[in-house]
Amino acid sequence: MAGHRKRARKHCGRKRSRAQKPAEKRKARALTPAERLERRRKRYAEDPQYRKKIIASVRAYYAANKTEIQARRSQRYAKDASYRDKLFASRLKRDYGITPEEYAAMFKRQKGRCAICRKKFRYRLGVDHCPGRHIIRGLLCLPCNLGLGNFRDRPALLRRAAKYLEWAVRNAKKLPRLRAIPYHDRARRPGPAAKRPKAVSPPARTRRSACRRAGTSSRRCAETSA
Ligand SMILES: [Zn+2]
Repeated sequence: MAGHRKRARKHCGRKRSRAQKPAEKRKARALTPAERLERRRKRYAEDPQYRKKIIASVRAYYAANKTEIQARRSQRYAKDASYRDKLFASRLKRDYGITPEEYAAMFKRQKGRCAICRKKFRYRLGVDHCPGRHIIRGLLCLPCNLGLGNFRDRPALLRRAAKYLEWAVRNAKKLPRLRAIPYHDRARRPGPAAKRPKAVSPPARTRRSACRRAGTSSRRCAETSA
């Protein structure tokens, strides 16, 4: 009998709480789905508490279903070209504030090639920007973009690196030879130097002797030739 009373009270309580919420909920039921969405959006924009709650629940859902969500996304990315375009557009907007049309215009200006190595790639070229000056310099392939970053975007360092490489080519005969192949080189295909060994030995001696005759040091000679 006591149990029965308890259940009855519980039921009454639920009924009361339903009756207390009310008008607002009844109004919500009368709205169309689009209107309801709009109302939620408005509340999300205006109510910080509500926003916090939504963000927390979205994060919790993601954490609980991470593997499935990622699998679904990567499947969709592989199959759906419009999804890929949508993601690309949102990344362009988020990271650089530009539109896909502006990207396409730059791509057309560069004739679809990387602005440095001038090659075409099957993947999308990256947007190269200067973080200090807040400018978009152009579109680059991944290795060229990484190269600039590795040289700290400093033209002086890049010039020095070019001079260093040219100096090594000129002085190839005098430099020590490899007695083993470095581990990170083993997977690579032989480069142009290996295919055409003659190209590695340019007329270094004649150039050097020409410099000596002209009274300039070999270092200055390398600088002027660069
Ligand atoms: Zn490139």
